[in-house]
Amino acid sequence: MQLLGILFELYLATFAHFAGYHPSQFLSDRTKKYCAPLNSSLELIGNCGELRSNHFHTGWDLSTGGKEGASVFAIEDGYISRIRISSSGYGKTVYVTHSNGLTSVYAHLSRFSKTLDSVVLAEMKLNKQNEFDWYWPSSKYKIKNGECFAYSGNSGSSTGPHLHFELRDAFTELVFNPAMLFADKIQDVFAPELSQIALTCTDKNGVRFLEGIYKVRDTQIVIESASDYFFLSVSGEDKAGKGKYHLGIYSLRMIDEKGKVMYGFTQDRLSFSNGRFANAVNDYVCSQHASSLNWYSLFQVLNNDWPHSKHFNAEVDLRSGERNLMIKIADEKGLSRSYHLTIKKAKESGKTTGKKKVSQQLICLNAGSGFSFSPAENCWVQVPSKSLYENIYWPVEGSKMPYPPAFHKTASVKMLVKDVPFGRKLGSYVLVKYKGKVLEKSKVLWKEDTAVFETKHCGSFEYKYAEKLPVATIKKAFIVLENIEFLSQYQVVDARTNEWLPVSFDSNTKRLLFLEKEKHPKKVRVYCKDVFGRESIQELEISR
Ligand SMILES: [Zn+2]
Repeated sequence: MQLLGILFELYLATFAHFAGYHPSQFLSDRTKKYCAPLNSSLELIGNCGELRSNHFHTGWDLSTGGKEGASVFAIEDGYISRIRISSSGYGKTVYVTHSNGLTSVYAHLSRFSKTLDSVVLAEMKLNKQNEFDWYWPSSKYKIKNGECFAYSGNSGSSTGPHLHFELRDAFTELVFNPAMLFADKIQDVFAPELSQIALTCTDKNGVRFLEGIYKVRDTQIVIESASDYFFLSVSGEDKAGKGKYHLGIYSLRMIDEKGKVMYGFTQDRLSFSNGRFANAVNDYVCSQHASSLNWYSLFQVLNNDWPHSKHFNAEVDLRSGERNLMIKIADEKGLSRSYHLTIKKAKESGKTTGKKKVSQQLICLNAGSGFSFSPAENCWVQVPSKSLYENIYWPVEGSKMPYPPAFHKTASVKMLVKDVPFGRKLGSYVLVKYKGKVLEKSKVLWKEDTAVFETKHCGSFEYKYAEKLPVATIKKAFIVLENIEFLSQYQVVDARTNEWLPVSFDSNTKRLLFLEKEKHPKKVRVYCKDVFGRESIQELEISR
């Protein structure tokens, strides 16, 4: 246990300079009494650093028992430095900055406390804004350790009631794993576990291919390899609480016979600008064979500049005999599991490397260079350089699309779409899909008959027109917004007096709720705007 402690400290020391700041001030602060953001013991339903589409999850998703309305507490004295209301993304969010340079973030809230609400309401009316992102000075709203300033909810792009909790460096916005302060408060008896291990080799074009995939049934693993040198990848996950949710692996290390770390990461610090490297940590080659699993590469792919995985050379070489490696995985609570991996040469060794047959339909794309291609007639995609993480094969024009690679940069697309009447050009967008699943909706700009758009994903493109504008109607004595897919703004005024009325929009029930309970105008005018800039106005009569 002591050795593990020393290793962990060494590990921190190794990585401290990559991030360019010293987290020691916060670590030494652990003696300070931080208040947990929720009253109950903390149940993780999503953890910090887990792999998501194009990013790492930057905080903890904490269970609120499937309900809204749990009291949310400030973890330490401070002031509200930023407050944000949006019907997408983080939803209702409060940022509290503390004197030690740490900012705590509380997202997807349902409502604020009475005192905070009255301050927010006054400002909303002053600015005539229902959705906003305000930065407040330190003098505006002070907050005490343990003070309840809001209630948990399901606002913004949230798929169920929970609290998203985040810790950031107030100056650099770098993210700290909340485990730094609250590891002892999480309910967790499960150590992370590996389910599969894969061997990949590189062919003569520098393209990796899968040599073998093995089920992990035990912590002692014996594998025979036909290739002399290869890379390893593992699929695995962690559990916490009642074991219902699949969490990411917090810390992972591959260690050689001499105890040297060949590859590893610990998700204790993350940055928003590095988030896209989640695509490089997730093994592209293995994902093609089992896409539903999280595959962690145990090596650094070519264009992986993610600071955490720098300076390792993790190619496994069998030329001077069998290898005995250790893969050690741990969670944020310190629960760990070690796998002992013996890799021997298969009898037919040394024959497969570089000998894999490549289809005539494929060309090799170099990781470093940009490229352009035409996936269909009248469609051109431009991919900037260093968008690919490693060399891949790509079909020549007309042949079938392979498993789509993840891009590190945004690609630009030009697509000829004929006969779109001028009046429908505003409201045009493109669905980027893979296997019928929508990955992205991208707004279109026009150059005559050419639709120009950007995409973060590789997939098929489908031109669409948003026929319907967001509109307000009355349902069961409530104002309800319909066609909200592209909603960007909503305003309500008293039709008789023209007074601007503050409202909140619940994207789950689609209801607009009056924030000043005493005001019940009979006739209102509702203005809606969509992301394309199109507006609608409705005059409604509310019967009560
Ligand atoms: Zn979250």
